[in-house]
Amino acid sequence: MKTIAEIVKQTEFSNEDIIRLLSVTDPEEAAILQKAAYDRATQTVGNNVYYRGLIEFSNICTLDCRYCGIRKSNHNVPRYELDKNTIVEAAIWAAQNHYGSICLQSGERRDPKFINFVTDVLRTIHEKTVSPELPHGLGITLSLGEQTLEVYQQWAQASGNPIGLRYLLRFETSNPKLFDHLHNAPGREKGLERRYQALADLRQAGYQVGSGVMIGIPGQTLEDLCQDIRTFQKLDLDMIGMGPYITSDGADMLGEGMMEEKALMRLSLNMIATTRLVIPDINIAAATALHALEENGREKGILHGCNVIMPNITPRLVRKNYQLYANKPFIEQEPSDTNHYLQHSIQSTGREVALNVLGSSKHWKNR
Ligand code: SAM
Repeated sequence: MKTIAEIVKQTEFSNEDIIRLLSVTDPEEAAILQKAAYDRATQTVGNNVYYRGLIEFSNICTLDCRYCGIRKSNHNVPRYELDKNTIVEAAIWAAQNHYGSICLQSGERRDPKFINFVTDVLRTIHEKTVSPELPHGLGITLSLGEQTLEVYQQWAQASGNPIGLRYLLRFETSNPKLFDHLHNAPGREKGLERRYQALADLRQAGYQVGSGVMIGIPGQTLEDLCQDIRTFQKLDLDMIGMGPYITSDGADMLGEGMMEEKALMRLSLNMIATTRLVIPDINIAAATALHALEENGREKGILHGCNVIMPNITPRLVRKNYQLYANKPFIEQEPSDTNHYLQHSIQSTGREVALNVLGSSKHWKNR
């Protein structure tokens, strides 16, 4: 049998290799995997870590994803929607603080009022953030769920920034049975095929396309995670955002349990590192959920090959109501606290925060 040290030197990986990397628990093997992923990241996409200032502008959601704390059937969470000025101000704050990009995220809605609201917000953010440092305005990642091709096109046009336009839509798991179980709608509108179609539509509409999965979902196997990586390749993604599945009081899966935290952290880091080795030139975000499991969890993500971090710059007053899962971190911090803390902690990983740049995916640039 090949050793981990032999496998990580490869550039092509069999499913057996991938599963072997995902199952690492021995500390010496874990250190070899970590170093290989870190080196592959810095050699391929460089030493920079890019910021995406995360603005969670509404927790109103029309879906009922069973894992999620803001699903529509959770009546214990006060619903909010930030007004346009508040969102635009948060974006301007990000630009003034030299973030090259932001991410606008919310629950999923498809009503025309919402779609036009987002269009208006995008147009205004663009107008207000074009500057000599950011000649195209702030880079924007949208994370607003499944929409139609026409809506993606409308938003793309409003963003005014064809080179800094991205969309993040996780497929959550490539196992169709598990996907249906999570979305409580077997064979109905939330099927996995429809999610893949949405990702294809996003590509057609000109976005840098990001997707990802949750790691450690009850019932998920290492073979499933290996298949997830194969699906990242098949979809030819530009960026990946993935993190541990964490139970939420407001979700519908409490009875199904969650992996023990240390093992879940190990598996999540193995998944990040393995993905970096298999697809070296993509952007990989260090999910906030890593930090919910362990202090400095996101820094560990960077040490395992991530090159994007999403500081939460949602106004503090509403942040506690965007509780996707238990123990979600950074509920009390002001955006400015986050800045100082992060810059320092990223430097402690040996990498640098790149300011005033879009930080587009090399995979996308190479396309
Ligand atoms: N509505 C949009 C969508 O579904 O893509 C964006 C918001 S949704 C809350 C963003 C992501 O949160 C989902 O893709 C899911 O992976 C993650 N998430 C939700 N509940 C979670 C949980 N309990 N543990 C970990 N991640 C979770």
